[in-house]
Amino acid sequence: MASESESNGHHHAGDEARAENSGAGCRHGGDDGGGTPRTTPEIRYTKLFINGRFVDAASGKTFETRDPRTGDVIARVAEGDKEDVDLAVKAAREAFDHGEWPRMSGSERGKVMAKYAEVVERHADELAALESLDAGKPLAAARAVDVGECVGILRYFAGAADKIHGETLKMSRQLQGYTLREPLGVAGLIVPWNFPAIMFFSKVSPALAAGCTVVVKPAEQTPLSALFLAHLSKQAGVPDGVINVVTGFGPTAGAAISSHMDVDVVAFTGSTEVGRLIMEASAKSNLKPVALELGGKSPFIVFDDADLDKAVELAIGGNFFNKGEACVAGSRVFVQEGIYDRFEQKLADTMKSWVVGDPFDPRVNQGPQVDKAQYERVLGYIEQGKAEGATVLTGGNPCGKKGYYIEPTIFTNVKDDMVIAREEIFGPVMCLMKFKTVEEAIERANGTRYGLAAGLVTRDIDVANRMARSIRAGVVWVNCYFAMDRSCPFGGRKMSGFGKDDSMHALDKFLAVKSVVTPVHGSPWF
Ligand code: NAD
Repeated sequence: MASESESNGHHHAGDEARAENSGAGCRHGGDDGGGTPRTTPEIRYTKLFINGRFVDAASGKTFETRDPRTGDVIARVAEGDKEDVDLAVKAAREAFDHGEWPRMSGSERGKVMAKYAEVVERHADELAALESLDAGKPLAAARAVDVGECVGILRYFAGAADKIHGETLKMSRQLQGYTLREPLGVAGLIVPWNFPAIMFFSKVSPALAAGCTVVVKPAEQTPLSALFLAHLSKQAGVPDGVINVVTGFGPTAGAAISSHMDVDVVAFTGSTEVGRLIMEASAKSNLKPVALELGGKSPFIVFDDADLDKAVELAIGGNFFNKGEACVAGSRVFVQEGIYDRFEQKLADTMKSWVVGDPFDPRVNQGPQVDKAQYERVLGYIEQGKAEGATVLTGGNPCGKKGYYIEPTIFTNVKDDMVIAREEIFGPVMCLMKFKTVEEAIERANGTRYGLAAGLVTRDIDVANRMARSIRAGVVWVNCYFAMDRSCPFGGRKMSGFGKDDSMHALDKFLAVKSVVTPVHGSPWF
């Protein structure tokens, strides 16, 4: 993330006039005015991947995926629906019920997964370029963060595959018992568009390590990397039918997975609304377990004793990294009154060198929002913030002549009950608020239906410990933010969902615990 804040601004004349009004804002770099895109990678895989082969959708239908820099169509991708999901589930079922994958030893599965990680690493540049093109991420970040993390996650779970074991039970009677942890079966994996490749591996890797077979449904906005990764899995020797990818829309392909009678577990990342639909679909079909990683409105809390430079840098990264399209975005920034004025000033000054523009340009900090719908949604929230009476400190406008670019926007004079302070915006919008005491910080940090992440900056260990224990969230980052790691359990509580990604905990959702009991010394028992 350091590289995200190292650019110097390339100013685009047309945008500067708008920027003057808001104090900072759009420095549009990287192309000739938001128009001509730079290099684009070749797109080779656009069909469904079922049973080790790329196939058209049964209906023959396709849908467009667009370049967020221009709004132009970059490819047409097979539009999977119920019939295709049935075929993919059938392939995964066969691979699970009769195939080698769940029957291999953990260490053999780990070997194939390690090979897969190696193959992905060899194709890092191509994968990064696909992510930049489809999701609008700065290429350098896609290469270092996204692809680096993909390989890291896969390697972590390759190493985990032979460390899955049960317990020996100390029984209360003349019985001996032990537990087996067995793969649940066919896993439906439904993922969003903000980190398409990372999300693919966050779900696929623990599922494979556990011995499950999978049907993945990437987001309709960003289908390209999942298809490329399916192709690489075949190169690495993952057996046919173990990984299947069905591209398509949520209410059709996604819903067909979550309501499928032959899918044994669904792991989902996405919005709270769709998480609810997935639980409903499970309840109305085969009661499959579900794991939900949902939205957030995370607090980032800066105390009077904080290192100011560090706090500002973390607040910026926590809000504008990945153009704010991050479930853990620390979008409610609470700053204690003693440091507030200096923090606000420093924040506004620092944002002056922030560059929005073509993600393939190395000077750019922030690319376009993923698609038109998301772009309009974020701009709608910005207008709502203005109408509710919040003050625009920086940004507040769209930017560039084409594509889905938005100025990084900071609101001050925000009240806790404003819509912009309550709802997840999922864009480059920060709410800056002032507080007085630790008690108030706890109260307001927890004053949300979400509970995904939280961050705090303080040098006082007592304050840090008290806050860490009082905040109801899945993770609390002290003097850091976005410190995600495959070794660290990740997942929310409250309406941010349940179930963990990353770490050995991520395996739990793909495993069933079976108890095996037998009498000791042949003692009679019934
Ligand atoms: P979304 O919920 O609309 O879509 C996510 C996935 O679900 C997509 O693949 C989509 O096609 C599918 N889907 C949509 N409707 C469905 C249905 N009825 N049945 C089955 N599947 C369906 O979310 P989004 O707009 O793509 O992503 C943004 C949201 O995701 C934000 O709210 C964000 O906070 C959340 N998110 C959470 C995390 C996390 O780890 N907690 C990570 C990234 C994004």
